[in-house]
Amino acid sequence: MEICKSDNYNIYAHFNIHEFYSKSPDAPDCHYLNDIVMEAVNYVREYYGVPVVITSTYRTKYHELVLLGKSHTGEHFKGNAIDFKILDADAMKDYQHQVETASGEVYTYLRQLGVRGFGLYDEFNHIDARSVGGSHTDAFGSYAFWDNRKKKTITELKTFREDEDGIKPIRKQLFLFGLVLFLLLALFVWFCVKRCVK
Ligand SMILES: [Zn+2]
Repeated sequence: MEICKSDNYNIYAHFNIHEFYSKSPDAPDCHYLNDIVMEAVNYVREYYGVPVVITSTYRTKYHELVLLGKSHTGEHFKGNAIDFKILDADAMKDYQHQVETASGEVYTYLRQLGVRGFGLYDEFNHIDARSVGGSHTDAFGSYAFWDNRKKKTITELKTFREDEDGIKPIRKQLFLFGLVLFLLLALFVWFCVKRCVK
């Protein structure tokens, strides 16, 4: 739909239309924004029942090229993308987990709506309704997914910590191997001693 600078009404229960207006410094008075991503953000807001802040929608060529150093051919430039923050740690974690695992109620609903691009960041999420999907495939077809988080998942964090605590995984394996060898040797000696006594 078309969104204009002067628009001011509640498009959804928790969103005023002006929250979807471009944040580019040279934004035109009116610009296009894909209805799918607007519906998607509203769904996330309603599903979790926590505040959701829209951080980026349509971006101008100047915004993309000069301020962000991007190619200006992206989905924000086309008015197909929204970046948003979920202001609740548990809800943010759940949303990102669903997207990461391509499963769950929210993920499925967004895919059904027509969201074909998902980006995860530490502080926010990107969704877009690109016309052609990406290199990932699920029951709804192809889609784009990228994970630009520094924290990553809990499992990865655990692995990372294990690598960082001074004991390298290979050393751990050697230690376990040595322990097993020692036990076998002890067992052998014990048997031998028993027989020799007899
Ligand atoms: Zn984005």
